[in-house]
Amino acid sequence: MATDETSLEDEGKSIRCRYCGQRNQTRPATNGEVRCGRCRLLLSDEPHKKFAHLDKSQYIHPADKRALAALKAIPGIDSALKKLLALTGESAIRVIFTAGAVKVGPRQCPDLHAKLQVACTTLGVDMPELFVQQNPVANAFTGGVEKPVIVLYSQLLERLTDEEVLAVVAHEVGHIHSEHVLYLTAARLIEFLAKTAVMSTPLIPIVKELLTLTMRAALLAWARRAELSCDRAALLVTQDAHVIGRTMMKLAGGTFASRIDYDQFLQQARDFQKIYDEKALDRFWADVITSGMSHPFPVWRVSEILQWVESGQYLDLINLPESAAA
Ligand SMILES: [Zn+2]
Ligand SMILES: [Zn+2]
Repeated sequence: MATDETSLEDEGKSIRCRYCGQRNQTRPATNGEVRCGRCRLLLSDEPHKKFAHLDKSQYIHPADKRALAALKAIPGIDSALKKLLALTGESAIRVIFTAGAVKVGPRQCPDLHAKLQVACTTLGVDMPELFVQQNPVANAFTGGVEKPVIVLYSQLLERLTDEEVLAVVAHEVGHIHSEHVLYLTAARLIEFLAKTAVMSTPLIPIVKELLTLTMRAALLAWARRAELSCDRAALLVTQDAHVIGRTMMKLAGGTFASRIDYDQFLQQARDFQKIYDEKALDRFWADVITSGMSHPFPVWRVSEILQWVESGQYLDLINLPESAAA
């Protein structure tokens, strides 16, 4: 161990944050926690792996892969989506958020900027723009065509701990790493129009003209499964499955989450695994889609993450030597 390395036990000494690299004095807060002054994540002597050469094929969920192949097999889908997003996409997204949301940077919400940097350096992704927007729904969003943007809704930040916020940011960065952004933006646009039909009347005929019903259904069916891959990306960044589990518990339980027993919630996810039937879910998805929910089934998502950890694939990736991961 180098002479300037100290452990958390040495109160008042300097320790390097395992996430963002910041040097910190180990002075506990009043609640006894020792957090990084930059990214606000808990300081620890444990290592934090950064992937130098992570390939999306190493973590993409098989259901995502299958649904994406089915989507891409639809003739004309790519040109239809490009036409749609040329009309409604990139510039509109940037204008909406630059005009109506807070842009995060090194001097604006610097801990969120640091968390974004942690997620990007861990997965190996160029930093996108990050915005925070007032919204009573606990959710986040990634959109764009060439230059993706990530938007975190204020309600999410009010509900989640710093580690859970990192999980959400990492999930969104996962969409960029998985090259989901073009299709995801189109899927979110369709959901948005389904929810705000009256306001957006001029756009609806354009969407219907450009995208056939088959295209729209395949796009939304894929988007559900894409979430499973990005939950895995979030786990590769937080490197703690319970952070993902607790985040999902809060998304499932809302403001009631403080009264929910986490172990019982995990048991519910395991019970769900036993009755899991993808065909039945497929039928149910049609209703979910029309209800406008973009991130349904938090219990199902926890069940999938638990299964991935238990399969050993997650640990294999975490323990992979960097030279072999290239
Ligand atoms: Zn830090
Ligand atoms: Zn997502």
